[in-house]
Amino acid sequence: MNLEKRFRIEPGSSVDLSSFDAGFHGDYKNEADAAIDLQKHLHRISKLQRKLYADRGHALLVVLQGIDGAGKDGTCWHVISAMDPQGVEVRGFKQPTPEEKEHDFLWRVHAHAPQRGNVAIFNRSHYEDVLVVRVHELVPKDVWKPRYDFINEWERLLAVENNTTILKFFLYISKEEQLERFRLRLDDPDRQWKISESDYKEREKWDDYIKAFEAALSKCSTRRAPWYVIPSNHKWFRNLAVSQIIADALEDMRLETPKPAVDIEEIRRLYHQASKEENKRG
Ligand code: AMP
Ligand code: MG
Repeated sequence: MNLEKRFRIEPGSSVDLSSFDAGFHGDYKNEADAAIDLQKHLHRISKLQRKLYADRGHALLVVLQGIDGAGKDGTCWHVISAMDPQGVEVRGFKQPTPEEKEHDFLWRVHAHAPQRGNVAIFNRSHYEDVLVVRVHELVPKDVWKPRYDFINEWERLLAVENNTTILKFFLYISKEEQLERFRLRLDDPDRQWKISESDYKEREKWDDYIKAFEAALSKCSTRRAPWYVIPSNHKWFRNLAVSQIIADALEDMRLETPKPAVDIEEIRRLYHQASKEENKRG
C-alpha cells in the first residue's frame, strides 16, 4: 500500500480529523506481520542517510507533532536508530526561554534547520506556536493568526534555498488511547518521570487541540512541505508508516555517492608499493 499517498494531506484541503481512524493498520494483521517490512524500511533509511551525508547536496527535516502521549519521543528514537548519529540532530522544543521569547517565533527553530548533508528531527516544533499558543491564547489572535503564512514562507525558504525535503508527521491517537498510555506511565516506574499534571489539564482541552491541529494541517500542508496524518494507536504501525515515508523521500532525492577526490589508480599503485615494502620487512 502506498502510505505516502494515503496519509498525505492534499494542499488546500480542509482537514476534519473525525474522518480519520487512529487505529488504522492497513493490510497488516499485527506487529509480527509488519516486522519484515519495517526492517526493510529501516535498512533503506540506513543506507540512504549515509549517502545523504556523503552527497551533501540535500537536507532532510522531519517534524513530529501530536498530542501528549502520541508517541513523539518513541518515533524519534525509532527513526534515528537507523541513522548514523554524525549526520543527525534531534531537537526538542519546550516552553520558550526568556531569550527565545524576545525573538520572533521562528528564530529558535531556524537555528536548528538541517545543513545540507544532514537530517534534523524536530520533536515538537514551530507548530507549537499555532497549537499550544493558540489553545491557551498565550498571545493575541492577531499575533498567532499570521503565523500560518510565516510558517509556509519559512518552510519554502528551506526547501528552495537549501534543498531541504520537509516531512511533517502528525501522530494521531484517539482520546481513549491517550488515557491508556497515561495509565501505562502511571504503572511503570521507569516511565513515571514522563508524567506531568498538565497532561490531564491539557486533556480537558482535547477538542481545542484537535481544532488547532486541523487548522495547522489544513493551512500548512504544501507541495514542498506536506503534512501526513499518521494513525498512531498502534505504535508498530506508526513506526512502519513513518519509516516508509522517510525512506521513500530519501529515495526520491536520487542521491549520488560523490566521485573520489583522488586518482584511484594512483592510490592503488601507492597501496601496492606500500604492501610490497611491508612484505619485505615482514
Ligand atoms: P514535552 O515535549 O512533553 O517535554 O513538553 C514540552 C512542553 O513545552 C509542552 O507542554 C509544550 O506544549 C510546551 N511548548 C513547546 N513549545 C512551546 C511554545 N512555543 N510555547 C509554549 N509552550 C510550548
Ligand atoms: Mg511528552
